Amino acid sequence: MLKTSPERADRPVLDLEAIRAQFPILTAKLDERPLIYLDSAASTQQPECVIEAVADYHRGHHANIHRGAYRLSRTATRLYEEARERVARFLNAAEPVECLFTRGTTESINLVAASWGRATLQPGDEILVSTLEHHSNLVPWQMVAESRGVRLRAIPIDDAGELDLDAYRRLLSPRTRLVAVNQVSNALGTINPVAEIIAEAHAAGVLVLIDGAQWVAHGPTDVQALDADFYAFSGHKLYGPTGIGVLYGKRRLLESMPPYQGGGDMIERVTFERTTYAGLPNRFEAGTPHISGAVGLAAAIDWVESIGLTAIAAHERALLRQATERLAAIPGLRIKGTARHKSSIISWVMEDPPIATLDIGTALDLRGICIRTGHHCCQPLMDRLGVTATARASFGVYNRPDEVEALAEALSEIRDEALRRMVRAQSEEIDSDLRYPAAVADSPQAAADAIAEVFELLPDWPMRHQHLIDLGDRLPPMPESLKTEANAVHGCQSQVYIAMRVRPGTADVIEFLADSDANIVRGLIAVLQQLYSGQRARDILAFDVAAFFSRIGLDQHLSLTRRNGLEAMVRRVRRQAETLVGG
Ligand SMILES: *Cc1c(COP(=O)(O)O)cnc(C)c1O
Repeated sequence: MLKTSPERADRPVLDLEAIRAQFPILTAKLDERPLIYLDSAASTQQPECVIEAVADYHRGHHANIHRGAYRLSRTATRLYEEARERVARFLNAAEPVECLFTRGTTESINLVAASWGRATLQPGDEILVSTLEHHSNLVPWQMVAESRGVRLRAIPIDDAGELDLDAYRRLLSPRTRLVAVNQVSNALGTINPVAEIIAEAHAAGVLVLIDGAQWVAHGPTDVQALDADFYAFSGHKLYGPTGIGVLYGKRRLLESMPPYQGGGDMIERVTFERTTYAGLPNRFEAGTPHISGAVGLAAAIDWVESIGLTAIAAHERALLRQATERLAAIPGLRIKGTARHKSSIISWVMEDPPIATLDIGTALDLRGICIRTGHHCCQPLMDRLGVTATARASFGVYNRPDEVEALAEALSEIRDEALRRMVRAQSEEIDSDLRYPAAVADSPQAAADAIAEVFELLPDWPMRHQHLIDLGDRLPPMPESLKTEANAVHGCQSQVYIAMRVRPGTADVIEFLADSDANIVRGLIAVLQQLYSGQRARDILAFDVAAFFSRIGLDQHLSLTRRNGLEAMVRRVRRQAETLVGG
């Protein structure tokens, strides 16, 4: 897998094409655009050998573990326990029983919060997290803190996205019971000095949990050298399957902790009066586990180590350097997160002209480029950065420099398009009268038929997308005075406002104005207005809007649930209609 570059014989480089060839999803099909996958921080793709290991287990070795008297079950048990040994070597754990299989990082942290937290924490105790945490390393602590009268405190960051270690030292106190921080921020890419954080905590007699979800695929991990008390990660960010992850815990801690879930496999002896629990690791693995997931995870670890984490890190560093240089050169683009030590994650916003991150993500998708937009499950961090969302590209071992180049070029194009549209909008006369849109047809169904007719004339998604953007451009303006908190709809990726009224002189005709910072959402608003505005409450309630969105193919390209606020708008209009019909 390694070859030596002729120019720089001292530095191993990856044989990128050989690596890419192992990922079926990256192998371009002849008549389709190749996939440019820049979202490995959300989930990595899986190489053939991982897919095969899982399939091979299902084809030839599957049985329930730990209980069968027959050979097949013993084989499955052996494969599962060998996977645990593989994980232990990967983390350099002292013994395999310190590595518990879970569903992933989220469950690993919940396990510690529920088991260790409930057994240990007392009112007045404190838990330290950081401003960089994923909701997975925040909400479980809030839940246990609330039930125990424990205070959660956050280590602040500076404007570059680095933890303020002086503040951390000041926050450590005799009340602190646990420090829970990530090794790498999934939103900004900051690599945190976890060895130092752990040493400081231990000096104060405090335990440390490290969320390693964004680290393990990007550099070597040694839980003993770190002296981490708990360490969590997920298989699906390490080129392995979903639904499998690991919680490492020091033996003496795990042994002192009560079970997390009750059920089969975690007991020693059960009577109706009382149950005694099994030892490690079974005590924490109630029920039938994800056996094929563990097998796949072991295969993924083998694969990653066959390439070498040092070589992977060097390759990803080069991609990050290139991406940082190229994106920083785009006028109006601001990179969020400029820590000195960063993993292969780059986050940004478009400020001038302002382009909603949802529009960036949708426009890149049209070019076959997958990135992540939104708050990245880090809302407190977004608040600290003063944004509601960022766009984020993240790189894995299989990414190529030309993909970074394609991203930068696409972003420049998207910016140029936004500038042209701005000029057009300014030159058009804007009707400043506050006018609620009247009905465009006799009923929502008749309006739907007319809209569908137009959509059906547009053969593919790029054309339909453009049509939506054009509809958004012609959306009647919503006065700033109506953009109030009461009119805000909380979609998770864009700001949406909707102002509704009953048409004067009528009892049940609903009209509304709405607006969004995202152009694609403005297009959806225009469609919604054509369907609903000026219609009678009863007709609105009778109309099946979900079926309509699937009829025009929107559901295949846009998440119509919480992401863009569309569903929330529909719900508001229907609720208003219900009150009119009910009253
Ligand atoms: C992805 C991620 C999580 C959650 O991982 P799951 O696999 O969804 O459980 C937690 N923390 C960080 C830093 C992450 O990137």
